[in-house]
Amino acid sequence: MLNSTDVFVIGGGPAGLAMAIAARQRGLRVAVADGRQPPIDKACGEGLMPDGLASLERLGLQLPVSEAYRFRGIRFLSRELSTDASFPVGSFGLAARRTVLHRVMTERAAQVGTELLWGAAVTGISADGVNVGKDFVRARWIIGADGSNSRVRRWAGLEAGYRPRLRYAFRRHYRVAPWTEHMEVHWGKRCQGYATAVGDEQVCVALASHDPNLRLEDGLKELSWLSARLERAEAVTTERGSVTGNRRLKRVWRGNMALIGDAAGTVDAITGEGLGLAFSQTVALAGCIEAGDLSPYQRIHDRLALRPLLMARLMLTLDGRPRLQHRTLQTFQKHPEVFQRLLALHVGALPAQDLVWDGLTLGWGLITA
Ligand SMILES: Cc1cc2nc3c(=O)[nH]c(=O)nc-3n(C[C@H](O)[C@H](O)[C@H](O)COP(=O)(O)OP(=O)(O)OC[C@H]3O[C@@H](n4cnc5c(N)ncnc54)[C@H](O)[C@@H]3O)c2cc1C
Repeated sequence: MLNSTDVFVIGGGPAGLAMAIAARQRGLRVAVADGRQPPIDKACGEGLMPDGLASLERLGLQLPVSEAYRFRGIRFLSRELSTDASFPVGSFGLAARRTVLHRVMTERAAQVGTELLWGAAVTGISADGVNVGKDFVRARWIIGADGSNSRVRRWAGLEAGYRPRLRYAFRRHYRVAPWTEHMEVHWGKRCQGYATAVGDEQVCVALASHDPNLRLEDGLKELSWLSARLERAEAVTTERGSVTGNRRLKRVWRGNMALIGDAAGTVDAITGEGLGLAFSQTVALAGCIEAGDLSPYQRIHDRLALRPLLMARLMLTLDGRPRLQHRTLQTFQKHPEVFQRLLALHVGALPAQDLVWDGLTLGWGLITA
């Protein structure tokens, strides 16, 4: 076990590894500890939006073409209605199994000289460093990247304002040829189903709802179009569950400690922006660490989270409201440019002011549909 480091990152998921790479790019000594062994899997929709991909590329990372699948936009489906929008010209999303993303990120972190400690659960922190089992590692900066149930957040006294409104999610992979070039959101009465192709013969299906007992198979019964596609498809992974939801923290740093990724608050899975948000946070935080002052991170963090939180709230107004879902999809069919512009806004290609005009069009469409 090493004795000391500049930056100690607790959690070696996507946020923690991205943090390590961003800090190494600035010449800092970095250690990452994770209680699990790689490659680490997690319940996820496994899609990276164009803005998330751009952040990943800034870290010098690319997903291998042979192990990822391109999607060109989002499709909404509700009962017999279907409507889709494409990302702005020249951009696309990429989906890949979490284990692939984790492997690629682990390799890059090792390549740039990160000290990687696997099977090493952190049991406590102080201003001077981190306890890893019986060992103590001195650290100038301590970063919590330990996911949505973060213990670092509690240890650092950063739980204030943390009012999770949880939804419950399950995901599984099916062996089936992709039927669409879009990431699909299937709207049901009590849940949404997300379908994303992650390879030439594999589709990731996730389901999110407010009901902790609504497992994937039961939820799919509400989503007739999606379940018809999966009827003869073999399930190739076991069902994996997680929580999701919009969660904001009052503070994401204190002294020499800061939080990133899901530990710093989450955006609902419906946005497909959790990973991209984490990647952009790490680039900003590494800059603050290099400058020796974490205080600007709060403002940058809040600004980065604003757009996905807003979009999640907007989309979740449809949650559990079948009539509103129906009318919204009818409006999108009638005014495809509104859906198109909302998607451009979602991926950061349009300024938020544009939402006002599109909001009015959508509102008018809903009244008149
Ligand atoms: C159903 C669902 C679908 C989603 N779909 C998408 C999507 O399509 N696109 C997208 O961008 N995002 C999506 N997200 C969000 C995305 O999965 C998360 O934002 C992302 O996983 C956050 O990464 P993280 O590194 O912060 O946390 P995690 O991936 O949870 O990693 C945290 C790590 O910390 C480790 N750890 C915890 N405690 C300790 C400790 N004490 N010591 C050492 N290690 C510790 C854990 O072992 C784990 O490896 C989805 C989420 C859900 C639930």
